[in-house]
Amino acid sequence: MSSVPDGKKLVRSPSGLRMVPENGAFNSPFSLDEPQWVPDKECPRCMQCDTKFDFIRRKHHCRRCGRCFCDKCCSKKVALPRMCFVDPVRQCAECSLVSQKEVEFYDKQLKVLLGGGSFVVTLGTSEKSETMTCRLSNNHRYLFLDGETHFEVELSRISSMQILTDGMSPGDSDIHTYTSLLDSHCISEGGTSRASGMLLHYKPMGSQDVQQLRLEVADDKKVASLWLAAMHKVNISSYSQGHFIPVNR
Ligand SMILES: [Zn+2]
Ligand SMILES: [Zn+2]
Repeated sequence: MSSVPDGKKLVRSPSGLRMVPENGAFNSPFSLDEPQWVPDKECPRCMQCDTKFDFIRRKHHCRRCGRCFCDKCCSKKVALPRMCFVDPVRQCAECSLVSQKEVEFYDKQLKVLLGGGSFVVTLGTSEKSETMTCRLSNNHRYLFLDGETHFEVELSRISSMQILTDGMSPGDSDIHTYTSLLDSHCISEGGTSRASGMLLHYKPMGSQDVQQLRLEVADDKKVASLWLAAMHKVNISSYSQGHFIPVNR
């Protein structure tokens, strides 16, 4: 048996082996539940190409959407990190495209987010600011900020996020708000403008008052800027559904 990291356990489902947190309360907000499989008796034909199933043409369930397909329409095995599968699992064409994008997010941006970046952090409208390292916690639920002090922001308590780009500050009329960036490619590793900061509004634990947090890239601008670009890929706007969906772009 392969080694199991601390706080995790292996569980077997009909779809495959999964490595999940021992305590469900520590599930990553990026995680997805396994779908209900469409019952065998409800699908005599492939839901993509309409091939009738028989002894030769067997049916397969897509592990991501739970629908029923013939071998040809559900042949791809693709990693599905959001469902915590240890190995790549069988998926339909539509789902495997989405999963491949997510694998990219896990391989690149998520690693950058966990690695952290150095920022000048201003809390509220205070005059004082402090250089801190900001990183995503291992369970993806918090932003940890560490400097002289430590504090954390729970992602599910973030109500708005703005990525600031070079030469712009809050209040500028052409500020890029998170939503306006949804279709924009201006902030990415290869983009023309570089992310220079982030403005967050969130409710601290146990409080209903919205707090403002401003991060500006500090010494290692390249790393911090990449960190912001990665953060930009996290779809904060879906937090209300309890899940952060890495944006497919
Ligand atoms: Zn088919
Ligand atoms: Zn599918």
